[in-house]
Amino acid sequence: MCHLIWQLITGQVVITRNIRCDNYCPRCGETEESVTHAIFECPPALQVWSLSATPTSPGSFVVSSVYTNMDYLLWRKNNIIEPDQNRDPYPCIIWYMWKARNDKLFRRIDRDPLELVRYAESERQARFSANEMIPPVVHASNSEENQVLSLDNICILDGSLTASDRFSGCGWVWMDSGENIQHMGTRNFTRCESALHSEVEALRWAMENMLQHSPCQSFGTDCKELIAMVKEPQKWPSFAT
Ligand SMILES: [Zn+2]
Repeated sequence: MCHLIWQLITGQVVITRNIRCDNYCPRCGETEESVTHAIFECPPALQVWSLSATPTSPGSFVVSSVYTNMDYLLWRKNNIIEPDQNRDPYPCIIWYMWKARNDKLFRRIDRDPLELVRYAESERQARFSANEMIPPVVHASNSEENQVLSLDNICILDGSLTASDRFSGCGWVWMDSGENIQHMGTRNFTRCESALHSEVEALRWAMENMLQHSPCQSFGTDCKELIAMVKEPQKWPSFAT
């Protein structure tokens, strides 16, 4: 989540699409969709901010600069004395807003702004409570657990498929040993037979890219079938080719 915000500020998230020549906003149709537009200006984004607990006035995000707006969120609005006590959910809101924008663009799913705000607030609260309750982890012994949770030098990938679309899509992001995003890629291809086929294609393409661009040999996916397939390929004969 912090990576996304860092990337927004440093301009590493740039909205360009290989698939289409146009760059219009998938949610409101604005002809040029910038990061600032997606997070601070698009009508559904403004609705989210107005529903959230983050103090904003109607004129808060009038400037078309992601720097000015992040500056406001990070410092200007702060009347909070102890930063540790800051339960403002804006990092979660930005994260969910970016996901909602991608859901709309890639999967044609509309997210309800109020639902998004509720998710973000409960996530923030859960993280805050977890920080309060869980003692700091001692890292010397627990190497196995650390390995499982670690996002060191890993390529996370995902495939997508919408039954009515002519194309499937996939994407990957490589994080180096410092958990910094080094490279990412998205592409589309003619629609696959199933969602699992698009996950396999995502893995194949991510592996191809990792071989070319990084020393990374770890891959992460949320698709259980894909993991099962890699573990026991003989059980999936129809994918043999
Ligand atoms: Zn828009």
